[in-house]
Amino acid sequence: MAGQRPAAPKANVPSGSSFFRPHLHKLAPYKPIEPFDVLSARLGRPAHDIVKLDANENPYGPPPEARQALAQLEYPNIYPDPESRELRAGLAKWHGVPEELLLAGSGADELLDFLMRCTLEPGDRIVDCPPTFGMYAYDAEVNGATVVQVPRLEGFRIDVQGKRIKRAVEEHQPKLVFLTSPNNPDGSLISDEDLAQVLELPVLVVFDEAYIEFSDVPSKMSWVMERENLIVLRTFSKCAALAGMRVGYGAFPKSMMEILWRAKQPYNVTTASQVVAVAAMQNLEYIQDVRDKLVAERERLFKELQGVAYLDPYPSHSNFILCRLTDGRSGAELRDRLAAEHGVMIRHYSSPGLNDCVRISVGTPQQSRRLCEALQALA
Ligand SMILES: *Cc1c(COP(=O)(O)O)cnc(C)c1O
Repeated sequence: MAGQRPAAPKANVPSGSSFFRPHLHKLAPYKPIEPFDVLSARLGRPAHDIVKLDANENPYGPPPEARQALAQLEYPNIYPDPESRELRAGLAKWHGVPEELLLAGSGADELLDFLMRCTLEPGDRIVDCPPTFGMYAYDAEVNGATVVQVPRLEGFRIDVQGKRIKRAVEEHQPKLVFLTSPNNPDGSLISDEDLAQVLELPVLVVFDEAYIEFSDVPSKMSWVMERENLIVLRTFSKCAALAGMRVGYGAFPKSMMEILWRAKQPYNVTTASQVVAVAAMQNLEYIQDVRDKLVAERERLFKELQGVAYLDPYPSHSNFILCRLTDGRSGAELRDRLAAEHGVMIRHYSSPGLNDCVRISVGTPQQSRRLCEALQALA
């Protein structure tokens, strides 16, 4: 009969949560940033009055071609191209890497998880070099792997010369090493020499270049053509301003491609995402122009932050600036007051070495003005 409930479960049926793989019960929750409407309700401010500098998003938005293409989407009723052919052909032309080595994902984040699902057995190890992007350790834990930490040195350099990465590889025999250049949260680069040394080790190196466009160094995507143990990941989320559309891509060794194609979810990149990314690539000048504006603003903002009495900013090659608080306050306190009193969102950290730090994304000159006024008011 309609509306009638099925019988209550018998006492000997275990609780739903008992079906999970055991290691997931120990998973620390990932804290994503809040979207505009949620923020707006919480802070009691309209979205347009919130200065959002907490997730390295690009305030300029994508080229107009991208919005147009999205508005004119022709076949939302048809499944997307599982091979993202147009997208990969465009990327191959743009970056000079054969499309046979390229794979697209629903953000670089999906590719990180996908790669781990394809390579890690439960109990396998990965090397992570904190402080860095939190998703490497998070995805490893979701996938039941063990994270071996090789902390960065002073100035956030990875420990190649001191051989700590080499020793960690020898001792723990990890499958994967994750390196980020420019690194999130500090914006430092990994030198070619350091990367080359890590590539000598018997381990698969995942080189995350989510922010490479904001630096002056070329991408290492072409290195993948000559290496068996290098993957380079990139994204449309940051410089191309399409974080909401979830388009990332990677260059992989040729010998990995066949199995990656077999293991990939066929419809992982939506039609809308493919169409919008292809359209964005039709106006690379716009993307370059936005990049130049953000880099110029980074340099200007850096000097302004140096002028804030209680902040010590780190030089950055990316679209964000990490600052240490020098007056004993925690990053959390500064973040909370900026948000509640000024509608300015920045990122704080709760990890031991970083709880006196905040990361500020580089925005427009107007956003920098609101930020700096608020920072001065909280001195
Ligand atoms: C933002 C970011 C990504 C994720 O990019 P998506 O393509 O949006 O998933 C990857 N790596 C780092 C270091 C990032 O900061």
